[in-house]
Amino acid sequence: AKRRGGNGYQFFNESMNQSAVRRLKLENQLRQALRDGHVEVHYQPKLALKDRQFVGLEALARLNIPGVGMINPVDFIPLAEETGLIIELGERVLQQACRDMKQWVEQGLVSGRVAVNLSARQFMQPDLSARVTRILNAEGMAPEHLELEITEGVLMEDPERAIEIMTDLQTKGIDLALDDFGTGYSSLAYLKRFPIQTLKIDKAFINDISQAERDRKMVASIIAMAHNLGLHVVAEGVENKDQLTILSTLNCEYAQGFLFAKPLPASELLQRLAIRVVP
Ligand code: C2E
Ligand code: CA
Ligand code: CA
Ligand code: CA
Repeated sequence: AKRRGGNGYQFFNESMNQSAVRRLKLENQLRQALRDGHVEVHYQPKLALKDRQFVGLEALARLNIPGVGMINPVDFIPLAEETGLIIELGERVLQQACRDMKQWVEQGLVSGRVAVNLSARQFMQPDLSARVTRILNAEGMAPEHLELEITEGVLMEDPERAIEIMTDLQTKGIDLALDDFGTGYSSLAYLKRFPIQTLKIDKAFINDISQAERDRKMVASIIAMAHNLGLHVVAEGVENKDQLTILSTLNCEYAQGFLFAKPLPASELLQRLAIRVVP
């Protein structure tokens, strides 16, 4: 056993060591998953509120580590960002999402777009647009079936540059969505200038809309503003019918959430789509 004594400094050191060890282990797992092809993509359906039809999917990364199980993005995305492994990881997810989507569209199982999350580092790559195009071409996927999700923070780092990159992607037929809207600090002045099609309202705003008047008003004004700017709106993290009812009365067009489906492995997703069970 290690000596701890009354030495606070040493205790602090030990817990720091523990977190360093955990981090290193996770980094190894991430590298291993990339090397051995254990990066998986799960898909969460997006629904139109007016008729409860599936209109698209969001691709979400998972690490499937043998002997450990599934590791969720909250645990590895920040580390992937720090180490730069996010570039490779993000491209794997994009590639897999394009491959799956192409097949599903061809089979008539899914229409609309598959949305893939882009990290800050990925977005700021000088050759991002060329990389995305290369993957689309390699997979034979039409850009009209792809959407990229970017967070506000990414765009506000260098808005002018972001506008250029986004315009480039959009010219190629790729749609863009602003993810986690409301949690960042995008200025409304820029919101007008960003060439995006969709705002995704963060789950934090949706959580309490059925109980909290303030939250409901906030969401109402985000939706109204988005529509005034000609943008579509997706509510994230819809978990119950009360939220759904309110979102419908506020004219929100689309929703994602556990009420409809959790992110699912491809095989389970296809089963769900075949049965089309929606509340
Ligand atoms: P996000 O892009 O905001 O994705 C939505 C997250 O909310 C997903 O978590 C999803 O499982 C979860 N979610 C959806 N509906 C509900 C609901 O009704 N209730 C609750 N409690 N949660 C819900 P997930 O898959 O763990 O992903 C977390 C975050 O990790 C994502 O947030 C995204 O920022 C990041 N991420 C995931 N995959 C990728 C990726 O391939 N690349 C990058 N750069 N980031 C990714
Ligand atoms: Ca997202
Ligand atoms: Ca989000
Ligand atoms: Ca989020």
